[in-house]
Amino acid sequence: MNLTQPYIPKMRPQDILMPVPAGLCCKPGGFHIDPVRPVERAVITHGHSDHARPGHGAVLATRETLDMMRLRYGDNFAHSTQAIAYGEEIRLGDVTVRFHPAGHVLGSAQIAVSCKDTCIVASGDYKDARDPTCAPFEVVRCDVFITEATFGLPVFRHGNAADEIKKLLASVALFPERAHLVGAYSLGKAQRVIALLRLAGYDAPIYLHGAMEKITRYYESRGVALGDLRMVKGTKKADLAGTITLAPPSATSDVWTRRFPDPVTAFASGWMRVRARARQRGVELPLVISDHADWDGLTATINATGAGEVWVTHGQEDALVHWCTARGLTARPLDLVGYGDEDDSDAAPADEDAEA
Ligand SMILES: [Zn+2]
Repeated sequence: MNLTQPYIPKMRPQDILMPVPAGLCCKPGGFHIDPVRPVERAVITHGHSDHARPGHGAVLATRETLDMMRLRYGDNFAHSTQAIAYGEEIRLGDVTVRFHPAGHVLGSAQIAVSCKDTCIVASGDYKDARDPTCAPFEVVRCDVFITEATFGLPVFRHGNAADEIKKLLASVALFPERAHLVGAYSLGKAQRVIALLRLAGYDAPIYLHGAMEKITRYYESRGVALGDLRMVKGTKKADLAGTITLAPPSATSDVWTRRFPDPVTAFASGWMRVRARARQRGVELPLVISDHADWDGLTATINATGAGEVWVTHGQEDALVHWCTARGLTARPLDLVGYGDEDDSDAAPADEDAEA
């Protein structure tokens, strides 16, 4: 026995991060990741309201996530804040945390938590598909990978978002006398749809519902070019013929739509792969555009991380856990509650957008 080298037992992952009612708790680091209840110290993956909530003591997040929380909740959303850049490492208690791009929305991050020789990556929401409005997803090698499973079933294959944009533009060309109303979540999806339209060569003005103005202008202030944007408010009905408007999903089915000439209702969501969902929502033009990884994205990412253990959070956990165990990985659902009521992970048509 070597007496000069003290024996340091390898940390068990569950001693580093464990699910508690407030969220994922890192006891040795003294913080929670994306807590759903107010905590002393929160480390936050991205700005969607189910992950970024107000009322914490200290918040550590990317600058963009902090700015989005400020836009939504006001200046006093936390007692104190600290911005961290991608690739930067910060020591918290007995652990180090490092942020890596998650490719989900502007400023979204995976959080790598390392303690002794064990690394756990909490990926929050993520997608491996290309998105012109945020930094691309980065594969982080780790021992334990914590993954979402919003679209964790083999039926979910999102396809190419550019092809969905072509469908939208074909419809606009086909119905020049009608307005096109595209339901899209206000943070991330709306800006991505606009950017994809611009990439496809569409340079006409794009109209916005008032609920999207602040966050969309914020994207522009961070260098995301979105072209000529105008507000629906104050625009004459006749002038909206042949145009495209982005609106929160719930606005596309209420009286607000009466200000548009014979609107074609579209909805940009990974759920549009399910025909019944589109029908149920009265969506005439379903666009399969998601800010979450599809089945192939989830499984390819799990493989790429090299993790021997996978913890599955919100969504369709069972199939993904089964897929992992069939490949000899240790996998378990985390049974965290409180996630999935903003963006694509929204399951119920009734509570679709807090900002609408
Ligand atoms: Zn999200």
